[in-house]
Amino acid sequence: MPEKILIVEDNPQNMRLVEMTLRDQNYTLLQATDGQKALDIARQELPDLIIMDIRLPGISGLEVTRKLRDDSATSRIPIIGMTAYAMKGDREKIREAGCDLYLSKPINTRELPGVITAILGRQNSHLPN
Ligand code: MN
Repeated sequence: MPEKILIVEDNPQNMRLVEMTLRDQNYTLLQATDGQKALDIARQELPDLIIMDIRLPGISGLEVTRKLRDDSATSRIPIIGMTAYAMKGDREKIREAGCDLYLSKPINTRELPGVITAILGRQNSHLPN
């Protein structure tokens, strides 16, 4: 079964960019455009990876990440945080919330597939054969 990736992004252009970048890879792509939808979809679908915009309407990406980390059903899902205007200390906040990795926007579309493969591979290597 293809691995499921949840893309959380409220900006349609950024969503499309990430989607286009991953479209030719063998993933099932799920999309959420705000924090509450991200939580609902993550809990229902248990994706293998989440790409999380930090600045979202309603519940922020940081808060969504904290809630997912607090729930044993979703606590181990790798989360890549992304934000455009990282201020001093934002990187730390994003890590503290529980993101595995932080990417600054605009996303480097050449690097993203490799980053994702690496994170998914690391997860899978923990699974028994
Ligand atoms: Mn945003």
